[in-house]
Amino acid sequence: MEWQVPTIERRKARQIKVGSVLVGGDAPISVQSMTCTDTLDVAATVAQVQALADVGADIVRVSVPSMEAAEAFKAIVAQSPVPIVADIHFDYRIAIACAQNGAAALRINPGNIGSVEKVAAVCAAAQDHGLPIRVGVNAGSLDKDLLVKYGAPCPDAMVEAALRSAEILESHGFVDYAFSVKASELFLCVAAYEQLAKACDAPLHLGITEAGGLMGGTVLSSMGIGMLLRQGIGDTLRVSLAADPVEEVKVGWAILKSLHLRTRGINIVACPTCSRRGYDVVGTVKILEESLSDIRAPLKIAIMGCVVNGPGEALHADVAICGGNNGKCLFYEKGQLVGRIATSEIVPKVIERVRALAALAQD
Ligand code: SF4
Repeated sequence: MEWQVPTIERRKARQIKVGSVLVGGDAPISVQSMTCTDTLDVAATVAQVQALADVGADIVRVSVPSMEAAEAFKAIVAQSPVPIVADIHFDYRIAIACAQNGAAALRINPGNIGSVEKVAAVCAAAQDHGLPIRVGVNAGSLDKDLLVKYGAPCPDAMVEAALRSAEILESHGFVDYAFSVKASELFLCVAAYEQLAKACDAPLHLGITEAGGLMGGTVLSSMGIGMLLRQGIGDTLRVSLAADPVEEVKVGWAILKSLHLRTRGINIVACPTCSRRGYDVVGTVKILEESLSDIRAPLKIAIMGCVVNGPGEALHADVAICGGNNGKCLFYEKGQLVGRIATSEIVPKVIERVRALAALAQD
């Protein structure tokens, strides 16, 4: 019997609505990122939101550190192609202003928003405007009493912080909340999410916080988020990188595509190359990734250096190149060998055929 890719059974979370994007239940796992521009610079922030949306961000979060920024937030929301979440710390009045200024959701950290009364006021504003709240628990900013009780950040403390916030929200009749329980320590973070997933049915926003730079952060995030998604845990995600946020979205999508949880755009299978390669595989992949980044149809491209593993990969690809001899390569489409082409024709030929297949997929 042919081996099948396993289906991941997702945890059934309550569903919330972040603007036009459903989160939880059977909704696709959404990809989020966050702007790193000065929120007061509306043009720059809108441009970054657009860039994030172009590479597949479903939801974008914008930091709102002041009342002045809450005004700029209004203008940003008005020009955004995707729902915008307001990220607020310390000052509950800013959260209320953002609720009034078009936020699709509020993200607060109850550990630093202040008293029960202040959290309640934020909750009431969200309710008035029909917004969900993400309670963002972070191992680095837990309530002091929890640190005293548990001695140090741990899954129990993080889950208690989340559930304590939920109690406050629910005491005001507010149930449209999601949780995140982020930590930069991989195993702490994963354990907190695993524990919280069992303790509630709220949607979970996944992320390994402060994961690091592009390389290290991608690895850490992929490990942690991947471990959770494989267990069916997670309804939306953000990869946190000390890098261009566009990279966060690309990595988020790569994680989801790797686990067959969502499809979008091209997926390039490429060999690492060795002395058997019949052409410049690395350079070809780089050009194709850049030239085809606008494609939305889920298409698989195999760029293989030689006939050792090339024909096997070509069988399962929409378009494939397999290095041959004397400046010629084998060209495959939909698993069938179509013919031989010169290595100089690889890039234009692949681009032409991928665009043609993408157009067909849209019809
Ligand atoms: S497919 Fe060929 S060129 Fe690529 S790594 Fe394998 S043996 Fe080397």
